[in-house]
Amino acid sequence: MEKLKIAIQKSGRLSEKSMKLFEECGISMNNGKRKLVATSPDFPVEWLFLRDDDIPQYVYDGVADIGIVGENEVAEKDYNINIVEKLGFARCRMSLAVPKEYEYSGIDWFDGKKVATSYPRILENYFSEKGVRAEIHQISGSVEISPAIGLADGIFDIVSSGSTLISNGLKEVETVMNSEAVIIGREGLNEAKQAVLEKLLFRINAAQKSRKNKYVVLNAPNNRLDEIIEMIPGMKSPTVMSLADEGWSSVHSVLKEDEFWEVIDALKSKGAQGILVIPVEKMIV
Ligand code: ATP
Ligand code: MG
Repeated sequence: MEKLKIAIQKSGRLSEKSMKLFEECGISMNNGKRKLVATSPDFPVEWLFLRDDDIPQYVYDGVADIGIVGENEVAEKDYNINIVEKLGFARCRMSLAVPKEYEYSGIDWFDGKKVATSYPRILENYFSEKGVRAEIHQISGSVEISPAIGLADGIFDIVSSGSTLISNGLKEVETVMNSEAVIIGREGLNEAKQAVLEKLLFRINAAQKSRKNKYVVLNAPNNRLDEIIEMIPGMKSPTVMSLADEGWSSVHSVLKEDEFWEVIDALKSKGAQGILVIPVEKMIV
């Protein structure tokens, strides 16, 4: 079977989680990251290990069929490629920051200023959208120190917790875009590769859903059973079994992570007891 070629970051913030994603999908890797290329004994894929900046181009050129990269790199490179799936990790934002002692009045502040960044294209588009004329100074790393060394008035860079900004005496003043890891792909994969991609996406979805859901087991007094069942409808409907202790039932269901605490509190108030919460490994709906 023809192999789907997947570009992933060789080493950096995306690489470990990218590899883990395939592991969660039951796809193992033959030879490790030390090589440029790896294959799988159990799935028709081949991985190419690259610098993340190069991944959009490799996908666009067809050297790889799909790739895993941050949305920020996709936006910066601006090739005609598709975002096939959002992956929910490596979340960050792209923001403008200025030295904290400056009085920042709004985006016009940047008029006539010098801004250092590794992402000139995203910034240029943003400034032109806002009608700001600033000088963009492209540098490849350590952007955050440029105001302190007199290279620029402000910076445009990746922010996650904001601690790097704070430790460099900067404050975040505008968020330009949010970013997370995504699968990118190009148009026109042949039928065989498209089929492999769909199979892969199916598994990724199952793994992602499982992460967002918990399996709950609890004991419910029979006289409140209907109310309790209504609160945890699960995938189709919950499983209810009688306990040896008359008047009580065991209820099994699936619960979404983001509703979790609220529902658990409500269940307790309805008399549910012995609530067990178990991680779900895979979820096929
Ligand atoms: P490479 O050597 O492959 O070019 P890099 O140094 O450019 O790597 P990394 O620092 O590994 O890149 O970051 C890769 C991606 O991870 C970024 O493009 C961004 O999408 C995301 N990212 C970067 N910093 C953070 C952060 N602090 N928190 C979350 N995600 C981040
Ligand atoms: Mg890079």
